[in-house]
Amino acid sequence: MTEKIYYQDPFIKNFTADIISFQEREGIYHLQLDRTAFYPEGGGQPADRGLIGSSRVKHVYEERGEVFHVVDRLPKEEKKVECQLDWQRRFDFMQQHTGQHLLSAVALDLYGARTVGFHLGETHITIDTDIPLSAGAVDRLEEEVNQLIYQNRQVMVKHPSPAELERLDLRKNPEVSDNIRVIKIADIDLTPCGGTHLQETGQLGLISIINFENYKEGSRLTFLCGKRALKDYSRKNKIVAELRDILSVSNRKLVSEAARLQQELSHRDSRISELQDGLLDYQAEKLLESAEKLEGCNIICQLFPAELSRSVETKRNSNRGISPGSISPDITQLKQLAEKLIGNDSTIVIFGQQEAGTARMILASSEDIPGLDMNELIKEVMPLLKGGGGGQEYFAQGGGSKVENLPETLEEAYQKITSRL
Ligand SMILES: [Zn+2]
Repeated sequence: MTEKIYYQDPFIKNFTADIISFQEREGIYHLQLDRTAFYPEGGGQPADRGLIGSSRVKHVYEERGEVFHVVDRLPKEEKKVECQLDWQRRFDFMQQHTGQHLLSAVALDLYGARTVGFHLGETHITIDTDIPLSAGAVDRLEEEVNQLIYQNRQVMVKHPSPAELERLDLRKNPEVSDNIRVIKIADIDLTPCGGTHLQETGQLGLISIINFENYKEGSRLTFLCGKRALKDYSRKNKIVAELRDILSVSNRKLVSEAARLQQELSHRDSRISELQDGLLDYQAEKLLESAEKLEGCNIICQLFPAELSRSVETKRNSNRGISPGSISPDITQLKQLAEKLIGNDSTIVIFGQQEAGTARMILASSEDIPGLDMNELIKEVMPLLKGGGGGQEYFAQGGGSKVENLPETLEEAYQKITSRL
């Protein structure tokens, strides 16, 4: 059986080993060594990476007590092969993992909160507690764990006998039944665990709880330890500095300034809506003034944007259309404009609009003009735009892709409507 030297000394970074067997499966090799410092995936801790000879270790796993190293090609040598761990990755995992022990132990000690879930990922680490924690409780938890880091408490590995085990007050029950390995952090934590850990809490450097949220019956805490916490701190410092430059205020005033700007933006949005509504009222008034009068009805047949309409008018020598200088409403505003217009008596609206390669139409009429049925009319004309549409008897809209047919479609709708008056 492979000698698991990561248990004898989790700080071994380089070692030599003999390859005792290998299996090839679909071009990937699964190697067994006589001894290994590569930690296999397990207990929530991801597998190590590194080199066996010049072969890159892609994964390490344990099966029936044996450790298998997954490599994409066989090392040249079989005996006394130089092996090297990706130490940065392993040390990072040991910092996160040991930090989790401490955090879970202190949460239990301070608040009676048991850790019921744990995830150690490549970027962040979470624990789930069985009871919810308040923001104040989370702050104190972070403070207490950092105190234990400053105190540089010892982390020890114990192999208690079954009799000794019965007397121990373990934080959680062991997942295996024999050769139970217990991690003891000073008088703070006593937990069965098969992972790799630091030797002293000081090696953790720093713990930072970056988020907490309600999760199931308790809380989910997202935290970072060691270098991950330091990197996060540096990154956030840069963000704060950038925001400070953008907003031209001191760190202390960043939040209040952001809140003030948000409020101001919201006021401006309301003001813009009011102004837009006023503009649409004005536009509706102008359109109504210049509307064609036919059979006692106001007919407003208009293409948007206005430039498009004017070019069509020139070609057809028509007096239908909007006065120069009008704005080009978007489709939402155009619908509002049509609704405002048909709020007047005996008014018919025929709108065409071209926007970003799409042609749209709105057909609407006041409810005092019977028998037009805009829903039916839009379905009759929309094939010209290679599109479809629908709506109600007095208001219908549609869209299509054949933009170049928009003037022709508008004319067709005009002819159909006026012939029914
Ligand atoms: Zn552990």
